[in-house]
Amino acid sequence: MMKSSQIRDGWFTELSEKNFPGQGLSLKVEEVLYHSKSEFQDVLVFKSSTYGNVLVLDGIIQATERDEFAYQEMIAHIPLYAHKKPRNVLVIGGGDGGVLREVVKHSCVESATLVEIDEMVIKLAKKYLPRMASSFDHPKIQVKLCDGFQFLRDTALRGQRYDVIITDSSDPEGPAEAFFQKEYFELLHNALNDDGIVIAQASENVWLNIKYIQDLMCTVRSVFPRSQYCYTTVPTYTSGQLGLVVCSKSSSTDLIYPIRKPTDEEQSKLLYYNTRIHSASFVLPTWAKLTIDGE
Ligand code: SAM
Repeated sequence: MMKSSQIRDGWFTELSEKNFPGQGLSLKVEEVLYHSKSEFQDVLVFKSSTYGNVLVLDGIIQATERDEFAYQEMIAHIPLYAHKKPRNVLVIGGGDGGVLREVVKHSCVESATLVEIDEMVIKLAKKYLPRMASSFDHPKIQVKLCDGFQFLRDTALRGQRYDVIITDSSDPEGPAEAFFQKEYFELLHNALNDDGIVIAQASENVWLNIKYIQDLMCTVRSVFPRSQYCYTTVPTYTSGQLGLVVCSKSSSTDLIYPIRKPTDEEQSKLLYYNTRIHSASFVLPTWAKLTIDGE
């Protein structure tokens, strides 16, 4: 939950004693645009002096207008370009709409379903983050307002399968807690077609808590035949990086060298993702690779 002390003397500071003890990331606040509690979480939107409007849930920055594309493009296009023909895509979380905006850039995608627990995030994104929320009315998009974990359980009962599933959730405190546990990855595995790929934000990066990433990779490797850790650089996430975990149901899927490449027209609409950064995002510093992979 956000504490009132997180905005002091005109600066917002992101703090988490659990995830990044002893450090904080501060942005100068020009104006608080919205602050309230939804049914699920504390929701704050403020205008910063250098990063545009900022969405904060339970005191943790989710997206800023200036650097959001670094996150949305990588979490969407890494699995989508690694898949030979993604038709049905599921996004869990992602109420700001940024990932959906990227998913529908792929003309082969026939349907994209967003499962967001908190309708207030969608409403606020439409009002204060319009470039992120620009695709909610796209004909290929459906929005379900419910818990993503429960949606996946029901998906198993319905026998529905997806080509790519993207977990664009908040951190593992509050409503997204279940998304970082083994049962969730088992549900994802069941909800994928045989050549399907999942990607999830790993909530941490190698600087903040490498042991956590090591444990998360052990968990996903006990469920999927192929899993890799990669990251994107986002200045407004504490310490400037966010890890992503990518897994495929088939052991023959190459996650690192994408099977499809953006056409010139597709590339012209991308600000961060390209084929080289796709592969480069899997390259880790020596110590981090040794710790995570035990090699
Ligand atoms: N880019 C972001 C990050 O990692 O900082 C994530 C952004 S997106 C706003 C995260 C969304 O996940 C939030 O809108 C939140 O309401 C949603 N969420 C959290 N728990 C959820 C759940 N159990 N089911 C569906 N959506 C959930």
